[in-house]
Amino acid sequence: MKRRSRYGIPRARTAAWALLASVLLALPAAGISADLPQMIRFSGPGIAGSLRLAGDMVDLASLMEAFGLRSSMDLMGDRMDIVGEGGSCRLLMDSPLILSRGLFTVLSGPVRSMGGNLALPLDFLTKGLPTLTGRDARFDPGASSLALGEKGSASFKGSDPDDLVRYASFIRRDQYVPEEKLREEPKGLSVVVLDPGHGGRSIGAQGSTGTLEKDLVLSVSEKLKRELEEGLGVKVVLTRTADYYVGLKERTAIANNNRADLFISIHANATFRREIEGFETYYLNFRSSDKEAGRYAEMENRALGVKGGADEEALLEAILWDMAQTSFLAQSSELASMVQDRLVKNVRGSDRGVRQAPLAVLMGARMPAALVEIGFISNPEQEVRLNRESYQAQIARSLYEAIEDYHRGLLRGEIKRGTD
Ligand SMILES: [Zn+2]
Repeated sequence: MKRRSRYGIPRARTAAWALLASVLLALPAAGISADLPQMIRFSGPGIAGSLRLAGDMVDLASLMEAFGLRSSMDLMGDRMDIVGEGGSCRLLMDSPLILSRGLFTVLSGPVRSMGGNLALPLDFLTKGLPTLTGRDARFDPGASSLALGEKGSASFKGSDPDDLVRYASFIRRDQYVPEEKLREEPKGLSVVVLDPGHGGRSIGAQGSTGTLEKDLVLSVSEKLKRELEEGLGVKVVLTRTADYYVGLKERTAIANNNRADLFISIHANATFRREIEGFETYYLNFRSSDKEAGRYAEMENRALGVKGGADEEALLEAILWDMAQTSFLAQSSELASMVQDRLVKNVRGSDRGVRQAPLAVLMGARMPAALVEIGFISNPEQEVRLNRESYQAQIARSLYEAIEDYHRGLLRGEIKRGTD
């Protein structure tokens, strides 16, 4: 288990933000404080007033007063829901992430408690406030003024998926690494966990001539296991070794318990559009990189027993609280690219790219993780090929080469190892 602060945020992360915050707090003492304004004026159709600042942050109480917002804190004191005329959002203590309408937004810094009040980074005014007031907002830092639009003018789209990758790599960079660790020789991979998708009652996708995803992915995983053990001499653990069902949480738990260096989930795809074929590789993000990836995540999550709708909100929240995978997003993105590159280079099939989606199966993994779709069994031609030993061997070989690429990247120090 990762040790957590009382806010449920991994300690290392809290420490990183605390470090950042102490740097920011040190700035006024260095003489900049004289130039910092105390107030921000705001105005818009039918509304005007001012907001109090706390250092370089905006005071939440003054926001609530100015815009008639209501708030409720949960019992643990680690998150706060704020409701306004336009909608609601959730703040998380010590975290730069805000959740609104099922989407995350990354603020420039964490929400902090200052002298009994909560203070928010200034970009909350343009990234969070519009959701609450329903008004568009433009902030002019030079003039310390906030221009608000009419009621109903707000648009909210959440953060770019890449924001979270940047957020994650920022945290890693700032994490404290003991000096003796820095002097350690770079180490390659020693344990890899492969996750053949589905199994038992979960058959996964089905081809027109009866090919089942669960059988296909187990066969490829077994081939890959042999390749890795012989070629790289690493320990390989499969999350299932025959045709039985394994729960989503168990799959990542197997990887975590084995202290795996990599987790790769192997699936095959299907769609109503039979002409579609090829490979795609996913890594976890809270927001899908495109509509298709979003639909795909919904479908794959449902097939694996995660329901949609209200549960999806709960799921998003679960991701937030178990941010295990978040701190490996940069490495996971690298891994996914290596997998996709090798498949496209070696195996006949279209390049459908590296994508990001909120995939339930990757969420709890405390190591770099990716999910690869080794083909569409809904495409009659690819279904035939996928059933061939030689084609399966080519796929396994390509995945092996990708993992070897990653291994060499670690040895050369080009890929940073996680410190989890
Ligand atoms: Zn699947």
